[in-house]
Amino acid sequence: MKLWANSGDSHYNEPPDLYAALPQELRDRMPRSVKSEDGSYETIYVDGTSFERPMPRIGIVKGAKGRTLMEALQAPGASDWTVRRQDLDDEGIWAEVIYASVGFWNSMITDPALIREALKVVNDWSADVQNQNIRHVMPAQVSSLDIDDAVAEVERAAGLGLKALGLPPGSPKGVPDFNRDYWTPLWDVAEETGMVLTVHTGPPVGEDPVHHHGPGAGTMNYLYACYGGMEMGAMMAASGILDKRPGLKLLISEAGASWMPFIGDRLDEAFRQHSEFVRDELTKMPSEIMKEQVYASFQHDPTAVLTVSAMGYPNVMWGSDYPHIEGTFGHTQKTLHELFDDQTPEVSYRIRQGAFLELFPHVGPPPLESADAG
Ligand code: MN
Repeated sequence: MKLWANSGDSHYNEPPDLYAALPQELRDRMPRSVKSEDGSYETIYVDGTSFERPMPRIGIVKGAKGRTLMEALQAPGASDWTVRRQDLDDEGIWAEVIYASVGFWNSMITDPALIREALKVVNDWSADVQNQNIRHVMPAQVSSLDIDDAVAEVERAAGLGLKALGLPPGSPKGVPDFNRDYWTPLWDVAEETGMVLTVHTGPPVGEDPVHHHGPGAGTMNYLYACYGGMEMGAMMAASGILDKRPGLKLLISEAGASWMPFIGDRLDEAFRQHSEFVRDELTKMPSEIMKEQVYASFQHDPTAVLTVSAMGYPNVMWGSDYPHIEGTFGHTQKTLHELFDDQTPEVSYRIRQGAFLELFPHVGPPPLESADAG
């Protein structure tokens, strides 16, 4: 039986003409990737600076002791929306939250006017994609350099029909942290317009993603990239930003899920037992705020399922990370069956579809051809 799932974590590859509507002087400064001739690395150019990074190797993904775990495939629809929807149907994925790829380097831009104008173009394009097909949930991107620009663009993006607001996992260096009063109008306008806050995890903003060196560094740097998302979830709960706005929901994508009850416990102990440090007024315990308003997505983690079934934390959703190499393309059905065949129908449905539909009810259920349409 085909198990259908929504994805709380997917990506688009930016089309080469994405910034065609920008004046040349601005267009040339936006992030772009140039692949090396042998395909082994790419050079990212951003606003006058550049750096190199190795490209994922397409082929067999190794397990420990030489075991073959899975074949990592290049998704045919990575850069073509029609082919992409065929990929989704084949894999059993209905709707997706779709983040940028090269656009993650927008956080390196320090010119507020450049980012303001470029993101208007990106959001216009995102609204066109979303309006083509209800399955594509495209978070709006807004300035994290200037609050007035951010508020104006949230209002404009909501008017275009966008349903989510994509934020980096922290504000850039030199700008007030997201828990400061400076950003209050952003949270207010997000709640007023019904935008879901979405954060794709990454290393703490402004930090080198290659944080560790030496033995274990490759795997530990991947863990390091989860900390930004976890800190964002903790900050939004501990600061009272979510508590003051019960209608506001936050999705943290690709940082796993079992950290949510763990971090709720840590915040609760501090809030309950360290009044000499903690001066915040909250109407309920941080863990309760998280349980009502913070969601997270994972791809393969068995503990993410136990977060719902054994720990009673309800806001866990699956994600494909399509078309990225750490995602499930080519083995989505195998992964979904391994994760959910032994679970109750309620837990399985909650993680595959229910939690996503709570945030984005407009996408509706998957096609009825499936015996498991929900
Ligand atoms: Mn992802």
